[in-house]
Amino acid sequence: MSLLQVVGLGKSYDTETKVLENVNFDIEAGEFVSIIGPSGAGKSTLLRCINRMVTISEGNVLFDGANVGTLGKKQLRRLRTNIGMVFQHYNLVPRLTVIENVLHGRFGYKTTLQGFLGRFTEQEKKRAFYLLQKLGIEEHAYKRCDQLSGGQQQRVGIARALIQDPKLVLCDEPIASLDPNASKVIMDHLKSITSELGITCMVNLHQVEVAQQYSDRIIGLNQGKVVFDGSNHQLTDDR
Ligand code: ADP
Ligand code: ADP
Repeated sequence: MSLLQVVGLGKSYDTETKVLENVNFDIEAGEFVSIIGPSGAGKSTLLRCINRMVTISEGNVLFDGANVGTLGKKQLRRLRTNIGMVFQHYNLVPRLTVIENVLHGRFGYKTTLQGFLGRFTEQEKKRAFYLLQKLGIEEHAYKRCDQLSGGQQQRVGIARALIQDPKLVLCDEPIASLDPNASKVIMDHLKSITSELGITCMVNLHQVEVAQQYSDRIIGLNQGKVVFDGSNHQLTDDR
């Protein structure tokens, strides 16, 4: 069984416009897939349907066999533990330190700011430091996030998404706010750390060349429809 199955997915935010229409694809565990398409194509909406940040209007999303559209509150929490998110604007808490932001990805709403680190087990802290070290930002662990560069902040965002040991990580335009050098660092890290940890990855991108360089498979969206689904070689041949 595929890790993710998207079957006849449709999404409208209002009654008039279909932002996604009859979207179909399966993603196998371990794949690194880029979603490409122009601004407004529906890429973010697709990711939001997969982790149910928005309601699903038509069709089904099956994650690890569970029907995402009909999950109850408790199952939804479990789904979000299994699906990490990385955002364009990092979505960090600026006044918290790097290590606090990473651990926040795990127990965000259960904690208060007082004695924050004391609430985590040695094991949890060990994993957080392991991720920071893998991402090359261990030395910044006790700095406030607002003191870091954009590229460093996005590495914190990746660590936060991976702290909960998800099966899938969804990255919504993770390099859209970064310069080419920082973008390369982020894509290199994303690729190597998910591959090493065996985590499936879907990345929204608007640069075709970046998608071609990093992913085994590319799904092209345009006006809410899948217009391409294949290997990066096929994309090159078709052009
Ligand atoms: P992309 O990520 O490819 O740029 P989006 O999924 O963000 O595309 O947007 C697809 C379309 O859906 C756009 O026309 C956008 O204006 C619309 N849209 C996105 N979010 C909302 C929302 N919360 N309410 C209404 N329309 C939205
Ligand atoms: P914010 O406005 O800072 O995003 P939220 O309450 O929406 O505040 O999010 C709290 C934390 O959960 C943030 O670290 C955010 O990045 C993360 N988060 C938000 N939405 C999701 C989601 N659908 N799945 C996983 N993590 C999420």
